[in-house]
Amino acid sequence: MSAPPTLPLDPVLLRADFPILHQRVYANPRRGNEGVRLAYLDNGATTQHPRQVVQSMVDCYERTYSNVHRGAHYLSAQSTDAVNAAREKVQRFLNAPRAEEVIFTRGTTESINLVARSWGDAFCQAGDEIVVTEIEHHANLVPWQQLAERKGVKLRHLRLGDDGQLDVPSLPSLLNERTRLVAFTAVSNVLGTITPVAEIVAQAKRVGALTLVDAAQSVPHMRTDVQSWGCDFVAFSGHKMIGPTGVGVLWGRYDLLDSMPPFLGGGGMIDRVWLDRFTPGELPHRFEAGTPAIAEIIGLGAAIDYLNHVGLDAIHAYEQILTAKAHEVLGALPGVTIWGPSLEHKAGIVSFSVADVHPSDVANVLDLAGIAVRAGHHCAMPLHDRLGIPASTRASFYFYNTTEEIERLGEAVVRAQEMFGRKS
Ligand code: PLP
Repeated sequence: MSAPPTLPLDPVLLRADFPILHQRVYANPRRGNEGVRLAYLDNGATTQHPRQVVQSMVDCYERTYSNVHRGAHYLSAQSTDAVNAAREKVQRFLNAPRAEEVIFTRGTTESINLVARSWGDAFCQAGDEIVVTEIEHHANLVPWQQLAERKGVKLRHLRLGDDGQLDVPSLPSLLNERTRLVAFTAVSNVLGTITPVAEIVAQAKRVGALTLVDAAQSVPHMRTDVQSWGCDFVAFSGHKMIGPTGVGVLWGRYDLLDSMPPFLGGGGMIDRVWLDRFTPGELPHRFEAGTPAIAEIIGLGAAIDYLNHVGLDAIHAYEQILTAKAHEVLGALPGVTIWGPSLEHKAGIVSFSVADVHPSDVANVLDLAGIAVRAGHHCAMPLHDRLGIPASTRASFYFYNTTEEIERLGEAVVRAQEMFGRKS
């Protein structure tokens, strides 16, 4: 008998830290129904939390919680130190040059809106151009459409090729001296496509355009180095990387952020206020108006500690194994179409269609088998238009998933076909 393959990480050991994964769903003891084991395959939407992250927030609320205003009293110094420490963890996690470049927001959506409102309103004029791609999440489309409406900016679109990858060779034809920004995702939340970030950035730089990377689906799953990317802005969310909701990050180059006006006004973001005017504060505070999500920021720091402990390279390598397994299992089923590129260009996201079965029926049958996936347009309607389908079913993986869960996914898809597929 051949030895089992050596895995880059031990999912069984890691799962022990995630109590929520060990439950059976739809149990009804009064009817003697034990329920079914949960298989959580909806990590593109949001991820689960290890005890260590939850405990960091419990510790904050039980021992150190206070508002952050250094020097006022003991607890506030503790809170301020904890938020600063989390900021430094994010800085190291991204290999960012300075901690002041890390702005805490509520998530990817707010980070991108911050750039569109602050940088866009201050530096874009009618006739300027912004390039976005056909595979973007609505969070990286609508803020630019709103900016286009406000300022008369023209939007241009990098298309998806038939191979499930961005048509990067056509990018130079979209760029010119009026291009101010290229905003694009590092990993598609529908197709799992890994885009060539450094190459797109290099092309944008040739015409002097800035770049914003929507890294919501990449930062949690693979090593990030903003300096080797060479980009200007990066946005991501805590809740997609085993951290809490309500906290995310905008990273930006220091000199660029420092040239931008505040986005929201209020406490904490000022240097001096008079009755009729104010002067803005230093980075990062200029972009952090109001009381921050203190416990959540601390939780995000704990999430980064945990991810570093597992290792981003190991996470990526293990997710490649899960994705290959999903392609093998689903690809073997007649009537199932897997969308997106071939495995070598794909992260741990597999969207598929089942002939003659609506995606929500697929998801319902999977749900009854304990398998949590998402059905719909996944906030990427233009991408679904391009694929010529209104919706798809999406399984998305993280390091705590197992190949056994993917086998169960395949079995449940067969059940959906039996229940809903056209009988010939
Ligand atoms: N961008 C991408 C690629 C995403 O997948 C998501 C969420 O699914 C977002 C942006 C929006 O993230 P949030 O809802 O955390 O702001």
